Amino acid sequence: MSTTNNPIVYAEGIGPDRAALLTEELGIRTTWQLLEHYPFRYVDKTQFHTVAQLSNAPVEVQIKGEITKIEEVGPPRQKRLVATLKDATGSIELVWFKGASWIRRSLKLHTPLVAYGKVNNFKGKKSIPHPEISAPALSNDLQSALEPVYSTTDKLTKKGLHSKGLSKVIRSVLKKELDEISDPFTEEFAKQQHLISKKQALYWIHFPSSQAHLDAARKRIKFEEFFFLQLTQIRNKIRNKDSIKGYKFGEVGQNFMNFYNNHLPFELTQAQKRVVKEIRFDLGTGAQMNRLVQGDVGSGKTIVALLAMLLAIDNGFQAALMAPTEILATQHFEGLNEMCQPAGIRIELLTGSTKSAQRDSIHQRLQSGELQILIGTHALIEPTVKFANLGLAIIDEQHRFGVAQRAKLWKKNEHPPHMLVMTATPIPRTLALSLYGDLDISIIDELPPGRKPITTKHLFEKNRLKLNGFMQQEIAKGRQVYIVFPLIEESETLDLKNLEVGYEQLLRDFPRPQYQIAVVHGRMKPEDKEGEMKRFATGKAQILVATTVIEVGVNVPNASIMIVENAERFGLSQLHQLRGRVGRGSEESYCILVSSFKLSGDAKTRLETMVRTQDGFEIAEVDMKLRGPGDIMGTRQSGQLQFKLASLSQDGAILNWAREVVEKLLAVDSQLNDENHVPIKQHWKLLYKDKWGWNRIS
Ligand code: ADP
Ligand code: MG
Repeated sequence: MSTTNNPIVYAEGIGPDRAALLTEELGIRTTWQLLEHYPFRYVDKTQFHTVAQLSNAPVEVQIKGEITKIEEVGPPRQKRLVATLKDATGSIELVWFKGASWIRRSLKLHTPLVAYGKVNNFKGKKSIPHPEISAPALSNDLQSALEPVYSTTDKLTKKGLHSKGLSKVIRSVLKKELDEISDPFTEEFAKQQHLISKKQALYWIHFPSSQAHLDAARKRIKFEEFFFLQLTQIRNKIRNKDSIKGYKFGEVGQNFMNFYNNHLPFELTQAQKRVVKEIRFDLGTGAQMNRLVQGDVGSGKTIVALLAMLLAIDNGFQAALMAPTEILATQHFEGLNEMCQPAGIRIELLTGSTKSAQRDSIHQRLQSGELQILIGTHALIEPTVKFANLGLAIIDEQHRFGVAQRAKLWKKNEHPPHMLVMTATPIPRTLALSLYGDLDISIIDELPPGRKPITTKHLFEKNRLKLNGFMQQEIAKGRQVYIVFPLIEESETLDLKNLEVGYEQLLRDFPRPQYQIAVVHGRMKPEDKEGEMKRFATGKAQILVATTVIEVGVNVPNASIMIVENAERFGLSQLHQLRGRVGRGSEESYCILVSSFKLSGDAKTRLETMVRTQDGFEIAEVDMKLRGPGDIMGTRQSGQLQFKLASLSQDGAILNWAREVVEKLLAVDSQLNDENHVPIKQHWKLLYKDKWGWNRIS
């Protein structure tokens, strides 16, 4: 992605074999891609250690001294070469197990020398096996002080393309091509932002002569990476606003007002009010709305969705709400129906298990425009479902849907409806900006009043008896308990066994008729699932045993205990979602994470994080650090998150800065026609070519 796009085969010392290998092993085809193969760390060769200073830790050190003794020791077949290196403070052994005779010839007694390598500590005796040996640099030597270390592979190493070999090729490519590299930032632009030039950055990222130079190079390269992503997204956003006309919901009419004043079951939180206002504003502009509402579990997104739908109805349009599971869609429908009935709003539920007569009736009333709100699952996007005039489409728990499914909803009308997507998986702001930078984002960062914190505990399995006692005690007080077992798709049978065994055990520990236990898992028929959910929701069963099907959205306020079995097998966001099922009523709530004794480091961090905090955003940050940003979002354009150097978990400040710069830039020169901005536009066209609409919400 630069003006230098020469095949790697022509680089000095490469040739067809190594070129093929570079492509195979590292995906490098061009010299530019090689230049973008940045070092993953640097070895500081400006620092010298003294022998006396060395600790027992196996760290890399550099010692300046001279060889006082060279000898070969050990039996003939296991000979090793041992040289004693002495500096002013003491001496240490340098050891070679291979290539002894060749090395022996290159070592000179009583001549200044620098040895570099990892300290080995064997029974208190320190040595450096296979050190790098060099003559001390002369003071005017221009060799870089921080030596780059590149990732490479065994096959490449065998062909001489180890870190040092790569470094050599990179140096020669830089020498030959540096002048051809074009800079998207003019000197003036770079100066305004206190950035160094691209050429300088490329040189210093590979061969920094000081930490300060390396920092400047990193800053420049990371900034540029974020800058162009943000430029695409913000431009897309502006372009969508300009070109895609949305229905104008100019009126706040009867339905909204009537509901707001007479049927609202509680006062909205400040955060809810703010988000409703943001949505109202969007809907009134005449541009198509593309808004993401992020709000932690239980923050009250549903009512916000309903108010938005009422605005659509007030302006003569229909609205649809799509949820990822049947259970959730049904719950939404029941809750919303209860609020809509008294207000005289016509609302229906459509799922995979809707009976055909009912389905036909819904289709027909939808097309005639009689139905005002349709709630449902994927069934909503079936081609047979036709709206008279869909004005607003809402997707709940949007991360559960694929891009294609969202696109279908968007295409339900000739004219795209306003889109509102809601997610209860808080994602770090940096990630949100990178993934959804082309959307408007609303955040509900406040929970409804009266919520008590959920006491979270981590228990090992051996404490099962204690746990049972606690459950009995809470159930005696009238509380209800969720127990969740992990389910991993690849081995569904095995994992269901988990649940089944657990269920059998529970039946023994919590015998009927005193206790009633409901069971829900993904492989049950929908009507059975619903029946069991109902038993729990109505309080007939005190315990619900489930796989993660209940992760999303289920709302049973009287359930105050969430027990997660094999908690070490759940991801952080899943655990957070699960915990969000409790703490919805006025009772003291508990989340108990049960795990085996053996835990991986990551699993430990996850459980500790859950115990420490309830803040979804903080949890999301930890999650991103553990898993990397790509994994978190799964399906959604993960390629977009593959920065060469920048890191979403560490470089949030640079991302924000880049975003601000882009916003200001487009505000003053939206077409990038200023001579100071033309190179930016050119570079960006090179980067994204025909991918114009790639990131529009679909
Ligand atoms: P989520 O954001 O997880 O979808 P819900 O919309 O399901 O949250 O709301 C969770 C619970 O909080 C529901 O029982 C809802 O009725 C209640 N709730 C929402 N907003 C408020 C509020 N402002 N005051 C009191 N309760 C509220
Ligand atoms: Mg919800």
